[in-house]
Amino acid sequence: DGNTTMDPLVAAVDQGTSSTRFLVFNARTAELISHHQVEINQSFPKEGWVEEDPKEIMQSVYECMERTCEKLGQLNIDLSNIKAVGVTNQRETTLVWDKETGEPLYNAIVWLDLRTQSTVERLINKAPGRNKNHLKTGLPISTYFSAVKLRWLLDNVEEVQQAVLSQRAMFGTVDSWIIWCLTGGRNGGVHCTDVSNASRTMLFNIHTMDWDPELCRYFDIPMEILPKVRTSSEIYGWMLLLVCQCLGDQSAALVGQMCFKDGQAKNTYGTGCFLLRNTGTKPVMSDHGLLTTVAYKMGKDQPPCYALEGSVAIAGAVVRWLKDNMGIVQSTSEIEKLAAAAGSSYGCYFVPAFSGLYAPYWEPSARGIICGLTQFTNRNHLAFAALEAVCFQTREILDAMKQDSGIPLKQLQVDGGMTSNRLLMQLQADILCIPVVCPTMSETTALGAAMAAGAAEGVEVWSLSPDNIPNVTSETYHPQINTDESEFRFARWKKAVQKAMNWET
Ligand code: ADP
Repeated sequence: DGNTTMDPLVAAVDQGTSSTRFLVFNARTAELISHHQVEINQSFPKEGWVEEDPKEIMQSVYECMERTCEKLGQLNIDLSNIKAVGVTNQRETTLVWDKETGEPLYNAIVWLDLRTQSTVERLINKAPGRNKNHLKTGLPISTYFSAVKLRWLLDNVEEVQQAVLSQRAMFGTVDSWIIWCLTGGRNGGVHCTDVSNASRTMLFNIHTMDWDPELCRYFDIPMEILPKVRTSSEIYGWMLLLVCQCLGDQSAALVGQMCFKDGQAKNTYGTGCFLLRNTGTKPVMSDHGLLTTVAYKMGKDQPPCYALEGSVAIAGAVVRWLKDNMGIVQSTSEIEKLAAAAGSSYGCYFVPAFSGLYAPYWEPSARGIICGLTQFTNRNHLAFAALEAVCFQTREILDAMKQDSGIPLKQLQVDGGMTSNRLLMQLQADILCIPVVCPTMSETTALGAAMAAGAAEGVEVWSLSPDNIPNVTSETYHPQINTDESEFRFARWKKAVQKAMNWET
């Protein structure tokens, strides 16, 4: 209608592990006006290694922007209506580039990558349990976070070593790379990150809210290559008259789900699966294998908001594995048909510990297993077991959250690419024994990033309040099996997990 073109618009770059999107929202109604999505290639150069090409990432960002703007043109919407651009991104993935040439010095090492396993095991053995570093960062030592990946680049890539010596090296997570490129690159690009992304590097002190010199010494990281840490909602720089802001993808989803209050939680099902519970302005340390992380800081005068996080490395990635590595399905959405045909896994359990196990176990040496096979088992049962694994892993996180906070969740708000799978959502409600609530507009992460961009001081076309989102509709899945049955299946799953943890011994 006529109003749509008059309302301010806010855009978001959503750079995920499996794809890049650019989306434009109406800042009054939260309506998605136009978007474009491009898949990203992953390479697996050695067992356990996962890399992406930083240049391909940027090309996908530009392509998504151009195509989305073309679509806006077809809708007769003037680009000048876009008042701000936010960036949300796959977290922890680590890059180093040369600030003089603008060239990446190695591929991006993706968060799932296991190449640092021996370093991590050595560090864990040196200082087991919750040590001083854990208290500062809220994170256990793991292959997951950026510091060990950056250490590997400094130790193994000569171009990186030379760039550090000649003061040309810039380190960043994907947000920093995108913002640097979008704001001018080697011609004065802004080298920054936000508190939510910084809190996933293991170099950031979540209490002082800054890089920690002691942690940098521990990992022997030169501090001059680190980006400047900014809040999640402020003007970082300019690109063709547009403005930038950024949030790690899981923080953006928390904002997009309007979980602004202490105790509110969401679970996002993408490549991995990440359950974040807002804990307000104080960091809460977990006794049950959860991470303490900075959710966001919405401007310089705002307090930081923290979250407890349960991270599952492999969720949608198991579906992609069944497609790409096993050829069991032609497309990821096809898995729903197979699982529906099976109706149950018939005693087959699939623990997809491809990158070790993250929360609540933090066991880098765990590996995937499929057990309970019989002559009867076919690919449909495997498909079902793979989807059920995503639900069981979420249940483990929810149990840990309950133990940490003493307060069970009454329902689970969900989003992410996998939530279009209705069988999965029903299965999740069955296994958790609580309702699962899924928004009809599935681009929650991008919405959260757009909201934070639109709310930045100096932009202020969007105020961060649930009251300002009039037309968010959702669908609720209610549990349909009895608790005894879900307990029985969950107990079996736990046995399978023990085998995945100890399969070598
Ligand atoms: P990311 O942000 O990590 O890139 P997305 O939220 O875009 O992830 O979700 C993509 C993931 O979801 C892929 O791993 C894919 O395998 C999985 N996926 C997408 N659609 C379905 C579906 N219908 N059923 C099961 N898995 C799906």
